[in-house]
Amino acid sequence: MKKVVVTGGAGFIGSNLVRYLLKKKYFVINIDKLSYSANPYNLKNLNKNKNYIFFKADINNKKKIIKILKKYKPEGIFNLAAETHVDRSIDKPKNFIQSNILGTYNLLESILNYKKKIKLIHISTDEVFGDLKSGRSSEKFPYNPSSPYSSTKAGADLLVKSYVRTYKINAIISNCCNNYGPNQFPEKLIPKLIYNIINNKPLPIYAKGKNSREWMHVQDHCEALLLIYKKGKIGESYNVGSNRNLENKEIAKKLLRIAKNKFLIKNNKVKIKFVKDRPGHDFRYALNNKKIFKKLSWKARIPLQQGLEQTFDWYFKNKAFFNSVSKKLYINRLGLKK
Ligand code: NAD
Repeated sequence: MKKVVVTGGAGFIGSNLVRYLLKKKYFVINIDKLSYSANPYNLKNLNKNKNYIFFKADINNKKKIIKILKKYKPEGIFNLAAETHVDRSIDKPKNFIQSNILGTYNLLESILNYKKKIKLIHISTDEVFGDLKSGRSSEKFPYNPSSPYSSTKAGADLLVKSYVRTYKINAIISNCCNNYGPNQFPEKLIPKLIYNIINNKPLPIYAKGKNSREWMHVQDHCEALLLIYKKGKIGESYNVGSNRNLENKEIAKKLLRIAKNKFLIKNNKVKIKFVKDRPGHDFRYALNNKKIFKKLSWKARIPLQQGLEQTFDWYFKNKAFFNSVSKKLYINRLGLKK
């Protein structure tokens, strides 16, 4: 049985990836430091699976990471451990430098110490390309990050590239657009809007709601990651995009319509409330996904409407998910302090 490590496997994408890899018959070693965005709900019932093991560890803890690698001898690592919320990065950039840049550096050093030839899939974001008024960024686009979050992700990507070139490690980078789906921490746009709709609260949308994001269901992202792991070329980057952009206010309107038509939340008076913009807010991200289609024959399968309906349904049926994290962590507006 093939063994792989997932770092950040208690978070949103990581926990979906862990379950997907288990379904695909991998033995999965989940390493997560269990920060605020790691939700025990995301790991529910996983401990019963004999092909799964969890370690509470920071990827900065090189000694512990090397010990785990030496004991389990995995053939690959998916690195998803990171601080991920742009608003939090505006308030406290240091945590982002610590986990995203130094964490990646320490993971790379652990790989050098353990075995250079282990395959590393380093999970990154479209945000490293910065904002694009028009067009779509290909893998060859220059990095031009705007927030402390995206700049630490960009720094980590560049470190990974340098370790491929200088030390010949076997790494591949994936740059994905915005994900949505089950298990996402409710400070992020879609689960926050669903939570507010269910709880009859106004939907806070930054500025005039015209900022545009490209959206992909997390299941599609997980499938792309495994394909990149199996068939991607060492040293390359792959954009994982859906080609489906929507303004934030359109997402809110879609969710309101889903609530009304599918979930019969008819007497809901919830409305969009435009709030102060995020400092330095990127206007639009959009990936050119031609490379992954041409080289790996991959494209996203889940249509946005269907994915949003499934996602609404999941949060609607799993209200305990919201209760399993402290409200204080996601109710208040962040990122305006400076
Ligand atoms: P998340 O915040 O839900 O989960 C991150 C997980 O990493 C948490 O469980 C946390 O405890 C863990 N973690 C943080 N720092 C750590 C450290 N130093 N050591 C060990 N564990 C640590 O984030 P997510 O949305 O699941 O994102 C996962 C990865 O995917 C990130 O690298 C992010 O940049 C990238 N990404 C996310 C999106 C998106 O839309 N969510 C899009 C593209 C790329």
